Amino acid sequence: MSEQLSAEEVVDLVVGPDAYRDLPRLLEEVESGQKGINTILSTEETYGDIRPVRMDQNHVSSFVAIMRGCDNFCADCVVPGTRGRERSRDPETILGDATDLFRMGYREVTLLGQNVNSYRWKQGDSLLKFEALLERVAAIDPSFRVRFATSHPKDLSDELLKVISRHPNLCKSIHLPVQSGSSAVLDRMKRRYTRAHYMDRISAIRSILPEASISTDIIAGFCGETEEEHRETLSLMEWAAYDFAYMFKYSERPGTFAAEKLRDDVPEKVKTRRLNEIIALQGRLSLESKQRDVGNTFEVLVEGTSRKSAEQLYGRNSQNAVVVFPKGELKPGDYARITIRDCTSATLLGS
Ligand code: SF4
Repeated sequence: MSEQLSAEEVVDLVVGPDAYRDLPRLLEEVESGQKGINTILSTEETYGDIRPVRMDQNHVSSFVAIMRGCDNFCADCVVPGTRGRERSRDPETILGDATDLFRMGYREVTLLGQNVNSYRWKQGDSLLKFEALLERVAAIDPSFRVRFATSHPKDLSDELLKVISRHPNLCKSIHLPVQSGSSAVLDRMKRRYTRAHYMDRISAIRSILPEASISTDIIAGFCGETEEEHRETLSLMEWAAYDFAYMFKYSERPGTFAAEKLRDDVPEKVKTRRLNEIIALQGRLSLESKQRDVGNTFEVLVEGTSRKSAEQLYGRNSQNAVVVFPKGELKPGDYARITIRDCTSATLLGS
């Protein structure tokens, strides 16, 4: 049998996300035969000299990080521990990155942060909040679509929804992770909102942005979840009529509050059954959502050739639904008016 090696014997370099400026020194240490280790998290590091920008291979969509870390400390999440406290980037560098992407031909940017609603940039006496940043990015060009992720339900403001309603290029699609429909579970998760507050935020979206799609994240089988609490999640899903959802079974993450203080006591079989019920319900809700779009016409940003046919293109509407349609003279980066003729639970089919 081969000898087992410990991590210390095989790993030379361990670098946390906030230690990148220390890399030259760490590499020197490794070259001189020592271990290079720096995992210290900073409260000030905003990665100002590097561009936290990702460009999609389709040359249409791009992503710009506007902040780092998170101050929320949800019970099941590793982010505050691994990426540190919340820090916002300078708005001028964000605008510079987004403007460059537009000039390079990109037609969509997604502004990224763990909790974008708490973006804030203070300079002297003036404070720039996320709503104002979003308006400034939207003003780069009317043909440059802007999305953002992710919003925290406790911080999603009416003011933000009103800003989105005023700008056609701010996409009408809100991702609002609920995690559970039970206030008791939300309390154990340390999510800092209740079922009633979450429902109030969904009602605000429906009233200020009636054409917006709403998506969410759901966790099945969190610590101590009872059958009744699970049913509260199902009833909330039905009420919210989500257009799309990311759905997971709870699994413990080392170092989190939940791992250290709560018991992961929902049996695996029960978690699986609850997740399957959630997935089945969302399958129906997604299909109903797509069926409501049949007969409607949307402005679609073309992203590329459909995986299923070289004669078809695909793109997305403002609501973030994937639309497949005949190629014609169109190419990636063009906008097209597409009328929806048919659908599946995942895709709109149009012409
Ligand atoms: Fe922050 Fe989201 Fe993690 Fe909660 S789940 S701590 S909001 S990153």
